[in-house]
Amino acid sequence: MTANKKKSNKEKKRVPNMKSQTLVDKKGIRLDGRKIDELRPVKMKVGILPNADGSAYLEQGRNKILVGVYGPKEAHPRHIAQQDRAVIQCRYHMAPFSVDERKSPAPSRRDIELSKVIREALEPAIFLEYYPRTSIQVYIEILQADGGTRCAGITTAALALADAGIPMRDLVVACAAGKVDWKIALDLMDTEDKVGEADVPVAFMPNLNAITLLQMDGNLSVDEFETAVTMALEGCNKLYTLQKEALKAKYIPTKEGIEK
Ligand code: ADP
Repeated sequence: MTANKKKSNKEKKRVPNMKSQTLVDKKGIRLDGRKIDELRPVKMKVGILPNADGSAYLEQGRNKILVGVYGPKEAHPRHIAQQDRAVIQCRYHMAPFSVDERKSPAPSRRDIELSKVIREALEPAIFLEYYPRTSIQVYIEILQADGGTRCAGITTAALALADAGIPMRDLVVACAAGKVDWKIALDLMDTEDKVGEADVPVAFMPNLNAITLLQMDGNLSVDEFETAVTMALEGCNKLYTLQKEALKAKYIPTKEGIEK
């Protein structure tokens, strides 16, 4: 489990003239019309890249994320191979056009950090010991970013791994909760993440009831932290239902399909 303080550039990213912006109005409605405990609209689709062994696409609000998975196959370079298990090579990458100002296509320090935390969030769910000396490659492409991409990347990657037929103990699903205008809120979008007070991303295996990633960016009291984690887990459970529906849509033939 990764349980560390999110090493972030939050301060750097803060936009000074947005500090006075009201994020939650008197009726408890947020900038995009959501309630405090509401997820952004989510769409998930599995198996959309025929050339990859497994793939998935997700939209969560303005986030657009595509994941392709290869493997398990012989590990390259050879020295990364483990004699008793598969290794996961995970690459989180933000496309140059994913944010307002063109981002360099080269991997940033943040891309490298998120690749590591996402790999660690996925590893406990996979039966790595079934495939010694192999690697499973997970490529996460952020096509459009609007806050919460590490969580959305994990949710999408778990679907792509399942689509690749890789044996898993459980799906992994992730969601963040944070503090905006001094209230704990679910699934922060970019403006809320930058202007708000804190963000707590959580990844979770719903059947095993185990957290595989827990980070915090900002400051929260112990009570606020507990509320945020509880709220994030509720978000995870809602997203898990959508993950199962996306898998069923591809793998359970429809009545019409059988009749044809
Ligand atoms: P997460 O996407 O998991 O919340 P961060 O908290 O590091 O991770 O980033 C929050 C948001 O900041 C991203 O989702 C994205 O919308 C925005 N962001 C990240 N990097 C950049 C960048 N280089 N340029 C512009 N916006 C960025």
